[in-house]
Amino acid sequence: MAKLAQPIEAEAQRPRLDSHGAATHEVFNQPFELVDYNLFAGDAALKDGVAREGAGWASAELETLGAKLGAAETLELGALANRFPPEFDTHDRYGRRVDLVRFHPAYHALMRGAIEAGLHSSPWTDPRPGAHVARAARYYMQGQVEAGHCCPVTMTFAATPCLEREPDLARQWLPKIHARVYDPRNVPAASKEGLTIGMAMTEKQGGSDVRANTTRAFPIGRDASGEAYELVGHKFFVSAPMCDAFLVLAQAPGGLTCFLAPRWRPDGAKNPIEFLRLKRKMGNVSNASSETEWRGALAWRVGPEGRGVATIIEMVAATRFDCMIGSSALMRMAVAQAIDHCRQRRAFGALLIDQPAMRNVLADLALEAEASLALTLRLARALDHRADADEDALVRLGAPIGKYWICKRAPAHAYEAMECIGGSGAMEDSPMPRLYREAPINAIWEGSGNVQCLDVLRAISRAPQTLDAYFAEVESARGENRALDAHVAALKADMRDLADFESRARDLCDRLALGLLASVMVTSAPPANADAFCRSRLEAVGQHNWGALPRGLDLAGIVKRAAPR
Ligand SMILES: Cc1cc2nc3c(=O)[nH]c(=O)nc-3n(C[C@H](O)[C@H](O)[C@H](O)COP(=O)(O)OP(=O)(O)OC[C@H]3O[C@@H](n4cnc5c(N)ncnc54)[C@H](O)[C@@H]3O)c2cc1C
Repeated sequence: MAKLAQPIEAEAQRPRLDSHGAATHEVFNQPFELVDYNLFAGDAALKDGVAREGAGWASAELETLGAKLGAAETLELGALANRFPPEFDTHDRYGRRVDLVRFHPAYHALMRGAIEAGLHSSPWTDPRPGAHVARAARYYMQGQVEAGHCCPVTMTFAATPCLEREPDLARQWLPKIHARVYDPRNVPAASKEGLTIGMAMTEKQGGSDVRANTTRAFPIGRDASGEAYELVGHKFFVSAPMCDAFLVLAQAPGGLTCFLAPRWRPDGAKNPIEFLRLKRKMGNVSNASSETEWRGALAWRVGPEGRGVATIIEMVAATRFDCMIGSSALMRMAVAQAIDHCRQRRAFGALLIDQPAMRNVLADLALEAEASLALTLRLARALDHRADADEDALVRLGAPIGKYWICKRAPAHAYEAMECIGGSGAMEDSPMPRLYREAPINAIWEGSGNVQCLDVLRAISRAPQTLDAYFAEVESARGENRALDAHVAALKADMRDLADFESRARDLCDRLALGLLASVMVTSAPPANADAFCRSRLEAVGQHNWGALPRGLDLAGIVKRAAPR
């Protein structure tokens, strides 16, 4: 028997041969991927926020969606849609102009899921209390899987308030825009049951300053859909060019005006909107963004001539809110990845999650993500109650403040979360590079940082009730946290004098944002998290990197709350 035992032991020590060749080592101390978890059930801040802000009725449905979106095969769709970017054909093989964008099936699967979940329409079709909150929660989970496809979903969603201004167009277009049917075919709208909408404002000479638009609109008289025009010009950025129609800004005889331009004319002919090429983007890769020529494209007027900005602003306001959700989603995914990695990886004798320096970093990242989500859901509740003048005023100021701050925090957050994972976090087969490249985009489009800040201060000067609503909101937390009370008092004093506001815009908006985030944390988050947020964001002097939370905070508790599983 002893003789037999020897060869068996020797066999065990010899490197095993498998079909890939000799194994040189055992793989250990390497985490398993974060898949097959529930994006709703595993997110305490989200569950709390949904209940708090009035969408508790949607919890069961959100949990079902959270399981679907966190499944390995759904998360894989996000990776595939970016590994195989859209391709563009100007003509078919026989030389006919087609302007066809081809997507990987993963992109279509993501679009279908988003549309079937009503991310593009649910508050319009089922406008009950909590409808915007429930949609924000769905979008937040969907955005964690993949951000690029959320762009056309957002634009389709945001088109409704704009189109409602023209009853004829609304009657014809909104039922199919609202339908939970995804139909990616490049055919006239009349042959489809579900439609998507894009937005074409930006030109080469002016993006933020759309008044510089040179695209011209020539009136051609009324047709069955509305006041018809032909558009001639260019648009330098048109995302999601496969949409069925676009809201466009162009110069009509009466000034800058908003239009709806269909991709196909009602008679079935191709509308002469020609896509020149797809942009090569650093992030947002799954989403096609194009440069376009408008060669007499048919379009119907939306809103009065000369009121283009005022008309499209409702759409822009909704897209800005979605940028807040989208960047909050990026932060959630980034910190979930970082925490999940660190709870499995050991270094220098302990799990990374238990190493004090790492725990401080993770807690700091978790606080940022939680505060972003809490503010986003608070504003979703305000959207649900816009008939209330105070809530409406809060949206008008809170959305640009939130868009500015949350989108701007996302890139640094993604970078730090990537570093928590170490070298594998920087590899292309990790989700982190995608989150990192995506992170700056939300800050740039739909009003870049300075533009948001200037909008905030202009809104305050034109409608001082927005500032009253802001202070009513932040003062709802008065007496709960000394740092917040002091912050609000100083801010209030400084906001009395808006002289030279353009130069002070960033400073004032930073402080407005921090006051709002801190007050939402104080009124909604666990006290330990609210305390940590206020002490680190309001009391700390000067700029600091992540992981500099002060002593005496419950860092382990903060990290535990943010752990995805
Ligand atoms: C991926 C992607 C997709 C896009 N898709 C679309 C689309 O589908 N439809 C569409 O219409 N557009 C789209 N855009 C365009 C986007 O909305 C514009 O890039 C954006 O509005 C900024 O315009 P701009 O690029 O012309 O920059 P500019 O307007 O030149 O701004 C450059 C910088 O100057 C700052 N700035 C501007 N004015 C002031 C001021 N008064 N004071 C101080 N600073 C100022 C801005 O904040 C910005 O940082 C897309 C952009 C990207 C990146």
